[in-house]
Amino acid sequence: MEEISADVGLPDDEQPHRDGRPAARAQEVARGDPAGVLDASARLAHAQGATPNPHGPGAILELIRSGRAITRTQIMQTTGLSRSTVALRLETLLAAGYISPAAFESSTGGRPPGSFQLNRSAGVMLLAAIGASSMQLAVTDMGGNLLARDRCEIDVGEGPHAVLSVVAARFDLLLDQTGGARPGRSARARRASRASVKGIGIGVPGPVEFAQGRVVRPPIMAGWDGYRVADFFANDYPCPVLVDKDVNLMALGEHRAGWSDAAHMLFVKVSTGIGSGLIMDHVLQRGAHGGAGDLGHLYVGHLVPGEPPLCRCGNYGCLEAYAAGWAICQQLSRVGHRADTVRDAADLAQQGVREAVEQMQNAGRLLGETIAMAVSLLNPSLVVLGGELGTRQSDMLAAVRETVYRRSLPLATRHVQIVSSRLGADAGLLGAAQLVGDALFFPSVVDEAIGQWA
Ligand SMILES: [Zn+2]
Repeated sequence: MEEISADVGLPDDEQPHRDGRPAARAQEVARGDPAGVLDASARLAHAQGATPNPHGPGAILELIRSGRAITRTQIMQTTGLSRSTVALRLETLLAAGYISPAAFESSTGGRPPGSFQLNRSAGVMLLAAIGASSMQLAVTDMGGNLLARDRCEIDVGEGPHAVLSVVAARFDLLLDQTGGARPGRSARARRASRASVKGIGIGVPGPVEFAQGRVVRPPIMAGWDGYRVADFFANDYPCPVLVDKDVNLMALGEHRAGWSDAAHMLFVKVSTGIGSGLIMDHVLQRGAHGGAGDLGHLYVGHLVPGEPPLCRCGNYGCLEAYAAGWAICQQLSRVGHRADTVRDAADLAQQGVREAVEQMQNAGRLLGETIAMAVSLLNPSLVVLGGELGTRQSDMLAAVRETVYRRSLPLATRHVQIVSSRLGADAGLLGAAQLVGDALFFPSVVDEAIGQWA
């Protein structure tokens, strides 16, 4: 064995530690992990923190991946680099498997001859969008195109080990499907198929301290507080694991899929719960501790007569307690309708059941009041309503629009567009693919992986 244990040779107060001891860990990160104790996720975060070389291969890959420059001539014009330097960078990227020559596609009117593209078949990404009571999973190519998908019921409150064990088992099944292998494959084949996974992206229904990938004080995820999701997968997968709040991933997916021209976008998920994701200046905003966008627990009790109802967070009079799917289901059940899930409530409203339509309209008005405040504060050019109710409920969308246009300050409202989600139920999974792709192909990460751009 040539590998040296991480516990050898460092004075006690400098011992790197996987959990806790942030000072020792930070020192280790600052030194670039000479002892090799950081896992792939922490190494990726470290590489992302480095300043990218504007003329390194990572920067060239970024031009190709975004489509801004895809031929030698375009890259020379965009970067000002010489023909020989561009040729060298392209050779490096080709040899490392990041890019491939693009087929000439005159029929689509897109690519000129001699173009390059991201090498989508260089590996796969595994994605999971974990909700409160169900999850969606997928395997995609390196361009984020879905190769296979899966869905199952879970209870996120059973804790990280139970839930992530289901995720891991489903990941193996997805890899089996796309690898064309039969069930019960050998351990060696299993290892090989896991080695083809270049990144894992996971969305959870609670706040996440993003740099660490740790769930923080989640109101509906019992047992998850402080849990670092990457630790669960570190033994089986050598690749980085990125974790974010579900609504952040939905915002990212939605923005990239249909609204990438909007620099400032507010995405509001209205489903069993209510939350929002903020994109300002094209960048997802998470706040100081991953708690940004917690729209569902703003107080709206002063807008409604009567005693403010109890929210599932323990406070009274939150927006969720009136307008979230769980609260609407409670109210519909109280007047004798069968509404166990947010989908039942949406179906009742779509069938024109009076109480359900009224609930959607009332919820829409309170959502509108809250969104109007956010619009005045943040001045987005676009508000996207997503989630089971935000996507399907025209009564709710109409009430939100009317309230926001009436309430927001004229300057903020003048050009704000309020629309429903284009991706619907796929927003979270596709956002997770974007998150992982962005991290793996971040210029300084690529430069470090290639390690020879000088
Ligand atoms: Zn609340």
